[in-house]
Parts: sequence; structure tokens; C-alpha cells
Amino acid sequence: MTELASRLAEGRDDGPSLRTYLAGVAADERLDLREPTPLDHVPTALVLELERRGRSPIVNVDRPEGFEVPVVSNLFASRERIAGMVGAPPGGFNDRWNQAVANPEVPVVVDRGPVHDHILRGRDLDAGTLPISRHFMADAGRYIGSGILFCRDPDTGVGNLSYQRLQLKGPDRFGASLHSRGHIWEHLQRAEARGRNLEVAVVIGVHPAINLAAAAKVSMDVDELHIAGALLGQPVEVVRCRTIDVQVPAHAEYVLEGELLADVREDEGPYGEYTGYSTSRSTRNVFVVKAITHRDRPIFHDIIPGYSAEHLLLGRAAKEAHVFLRLKEMVPGLRAINYPKSGTHFHAYMSIEKSAEGQARNAMLLLLGLDPYVKLAVTVDNDIDVFDEQQVLWALATRFQADTDMFMVPEALCNPLDPSSRDGKSAKLALDATAPLDSEDVRAVVPDDAVEQARQILSEVTS
Ligand code: MN
Repeated sequence: MTELASRLAEGRDDGPSLRTYLAGVAADERLDLREPTPLDHVPTALVLELERRGRSPIVNVDRPEGFEVPVVSNLFASRERIAGMVGAPPGGFNDRWNQAVANPEVPVVVDRGPVHDHILRGRDLDAGTLPISRHFMADAGRYIGSGILFCRDPDTGVGNLSYQRLQLKGPDRFGASLHSRGHIWEHLQRAEARGRNLEVAVVIGVHPAINLAAAAKVSMDVDELHIAGALLGQPVEVVRCRTIDVQVPAHAEYVLEGELLADVREDEGPYGEYTGYSTSRSTRNVFVVKAITHRDRPIFHDIIPGYSAEHLLLGRAAKEAHVFLRLKEMVPGLRAINYPKSGTHFHAYMSIEKSAEGQARNAMLLLLGLDPYVKLAVTVDNDIDVFDEQQVLWALATRFQADTDMFMVPEALCNPLDPSSRDGKSAKLALDATAPLDSEDVRAVVPDDAVEQARQILSEVTS
């Protein structure tokens, strides 16, 4: 029996948690590394190699060298698995997500939870003993990339969940970059204006529906944990932290309670980002830990960062659902949208059922305005599967002419992590690869019943 399996058996009575989720995953969807394995670089290399081979299992480093806690990663490397995490069928994530956003579930506060099985403070506290990986060669050190930062708006008290990279610097000290300048960055600005630190709990190891909700960029007056409750179909059970006024999931594996310091800045980074580049851009913040709490016999969760499938899919699952909903309001013929991995978060492919010429352009104008990350939009007809990049490129090859079928918007806001951007701005390119409505070109295809028959033949030959 693996270390992980023996711990999963101890989570049977949990509400939704990392343990109950992992216990329900089919055995062939998990790769257990039973031999001692170094955490420096090897799990990252392994996940990237699996990806090159078209495989996306959850990876369990059962016995990390120098640590006694199993480390699971690669949870989010597959779209089908992500749909399953929120109880949706394959392809059903967007609907499920948008339904949850419209019907949030307020968490329930409980008196105690397993996350407080162990409480480490003072001289017992050493974050260096946590199985935190070193991922890429140029990284400044060991980094937590899977930690969800729970905090509260200093004025309204509304909760906020987000991911910020955390560089291990000492027993109770991390460097942090809040460089997406999201809600937590704004909260810290307002706390600093009053000369106060911002209380933050870093939560590691929760039901993956909470991870997905934490990756969403929703309005500042929405608590992402309420969306998580709706995704789970039941309110998240939370407990009060011991040293700060923040509530965290009662069944989390680990929580680092602490504060982002006001008016303290220190070097942080570089770190391998979603662009596939190592970046030193940082807001240079400092997080000081006051207490570490964890479950009995905990499990550590890592998210392989950089240009990995799981990092990119986690970052855009909620975004795709949101963008799809907004675009569909204005372009009813919209059928599907895909941010392909090859384009990191900068490229998007859409398919539409066109009923009038010009709709593809309207759809792309809307998309470029909705999502400042996008710098290349391609629209295709509904006979093209936008999740199959070969088909999208075939549509460009046969239904697109550069002199009439594209437009470009110069110097628009972009994500400055794009190394080719200038002063936070980039050019936006939109390609209409839909065929004209009056096109008489006939695709060379075979009939559906022949495809069915072919599949039948192959299943008999290969089984
Ligand atoms: Mn928020």
C-alpha cells in the first residue's frame, strides 16, 4: 500500500476534500512513484514528459526524498478531469460553472476541523520542513504555487481567494508577487494606507473545485469560496484560523496563517511563469507566517507551474466559461471557444454558426475587449473542432485570405508577461477563417455510418 492510499483511507468521513476527491479517482488515472524521488526538478520534468507523450495522470510522489509527506500534482492536466471535479460531464464545464456563479453557496462555520489536528507556532514553526518543490532551473528557490491565499477586503470584509507565487525564504518568511494586481493587491494597498498588514491564510490541499473557484477572476464583491460551494453542491465547511481573522476550509491539508507586510519590499524571483519564460517581474511583497496548521498525516498538493498543461488549464477553465457566456449573449451562433495550449493564454479559437456575414468580426471585437490577454483570435465555422488545432489551421489554409479576412488593433492593453509586449501594450490580430455563406465548396468527407462501421472494425482488430 502506498503512503497516499493509507492516508486516503483516513479521509472517508470528510465532506468534500482533497482526500475524498483522490479516493474517487480511478486507479489508472493516477501514477504512484513508490521509490524515493527528489522534489527538486524531477516531478516537474516527469509531468512535462508525460505531457509530451499525450498522458495526463495525477502524479503522486509517494516518498519525496527528505520528507515524509506524499506530494500529489498534475490534478488539472485534463479537461475531462476538470469537468468531473465539478460534477459535469465531458464538455459540460462551462454550463456548470455559469450556473454556480449565478447561485453561490455561503459557507458554514464549524467549531473544529481536521485542519487543526496539528498547530505549529514559535520555535516549532519551520516552513522549510514542508515538501515544497523546486521546479525550473532559473527559479530563485523552492516555491509554493498551489497555495490559495484567503484574505478579506479591509473595508467590506468580503472574502477573496487567489493564487500568488510564494518563494520560501526562511522558517517563517516567503517572498510573494501579487503581479496580476488582482483583488488581494488592492486589499493590501488599502491596508497599507492605514499602516496595517494584510492578514492572509495560505491554504494547500483542498477539494479541486475550490482550486478552480480560486482561479476565477470575478467581481470584487463576490467571494470565490461561495462559488466553490455551488460547484460542490453544498456549502464549504470553514473554521476560524487560530492567529488571524480569516476562515479556511475545515478539511484542508495545510494552512499557513500569517500576514503580507505593509511597506516592506524585498527581491523575489525569478520564477517560471505560464508564458514558458522565467520572469523577475515582481511586486516584491513579503509574507510572514504566524502559525502552520495541518491534518494528521497530511498530503501536500503541488501545481506544476510554467507552461504546463495543468497550470494553463487551471488558469483558464473559469475564464473560458465566463468569456463564452458573455460572447454568447451578443453572438447567439457561438458554438465553442478554446484557448489552445500552444498560445499560452494569448490565443483563442472560436467556432460559430454564421447566419450573416460580419458576425465573426463582431465576435472577435468583443473577445479582444473582454479579455486583454488575447492577442490572436481565430474564428472558424461550426464544422471545425476548435479543440483540434490541425482543423483550425486547415480552415486558415482553405477559408482565409489575408487581404480581406483580418484586422489588427494596435497598442491595446495586454498582459505584460508577454515578452514581446511593449509598455504593457500589444497588437491584437483577428483572423476570420469562416467560409462565405454562399460558398459552394463541398468538403470531401465520408458518410457517418461508414465512420461508425470503421470504428467498429478497428475496435475488433485492436481488442
Ligand atoms: Mn475576488
